Amino acid sequence: MKENINMNNYENLKNSHPCFAGHKANKGRIHLPVSPGCNIQCKFCDRKINDYEQRPGVTSVVIKPDEALEVVRKSLELCPEITVVGIAGPGDTLATDYALNTFRLIKEAFPDIIKCMSTNGLLLEERAEEIIEVGIDSLTVTVNAVDPAILTRLNSAIIYHGKHYEGEEAAAILIRNQLAGIQKVSEAGITIKVNTVLVPGINDLHIEEIARTVSEAGASIYNLIPLIPQHELSECEAPNCMQIETARGKAAKYIDVFRHCQRCRADAIGIPGEKDFGDQIYLNRIAHK
Ligand code: SF4
Ligand code: SF4
Repeated sequence: MKENINMNNYENLKNSHPCFAGHKANKGRIHLPVSPGCNIQCKFCDRKINDYEQRPGVTSVVIKPDEALEVVRKSLELCPEITVVGIAGPGDTLATDYALNTFRLIKEAFPDIIKCMSTNGLLLEERAEEIIEVGIDSLTVTVNAVDPAILTRLNSAIIYHGKHYEGEEAAAILIRNQLAGIQKVSEAGITIKVNTVLVPGINDLHIEEIARTVSEAGASIYNLIPLIPQHELSECEAPNCMQIETARGKAAKYIDVFRHCQRCRADAIGIPGEKDFGDQIYLNRIAHK
């Protein structure tokens, strides 16, 4: 495995971030749902506003950057174990400016909290300096394939610099930008986690190549997310436990593998897999929608 210059940072995060190297029952995170829009179309994506589905891409509300500060304040009162403020949608964090503007406010008001962000990586290379300047501590990039012929089965289209691309042309742009972005951000010492949605029959035999490629680009940890069959991939089967374990074993030859992801909502607040305070925080907001 390539030795990353952000190794110290990654080592620190293993003790302070609830999602790195084993869930710590005493560590929590907040996902701030400030990023509604997206610039790509994944075939399995079904973004929803509701308060009952437990999965990524779902939130009960979308809030504005200045409202996020109050959410963090209240969340820390209810759950002092929270060490991380993350933004994971419900859309892409770089497709609009809301996420980075929110992190700027968070940095000023809560300088000690860990800032964690997720992106599809389409704009990662060109917005890397902003991510570095804002002081993001850990960045998750979702890389579902590093071969355009495979990615085109998982992604229908991208909108890039105002232009619509489809098929392998779209996939090649996305992969190129993801890898260049991972390299740039990891060289600045920011810990990179890569997520891959594991889809049997599409990218299950490609996991080793993804893990090797993203590790070489500078990623430190790899998270396989089992497909939730929905939208254009509603006919696909979710991977079974053996398929997930086999894929993890292949990836582990190249990169640390994260094994306990709870596939949290975009407005999750609390300790992953244990306590969630989202209802209490957003109750009034939901009632007044
Ligand atoms: Fe949905 Fe995320 Fe894919 Fe955008 S990048 S289409 S929000 S899964
Ligand atoms: Fe952690 Fe996975 Fe939840 Fe993200 S979705 S906060 S990585 S458990």
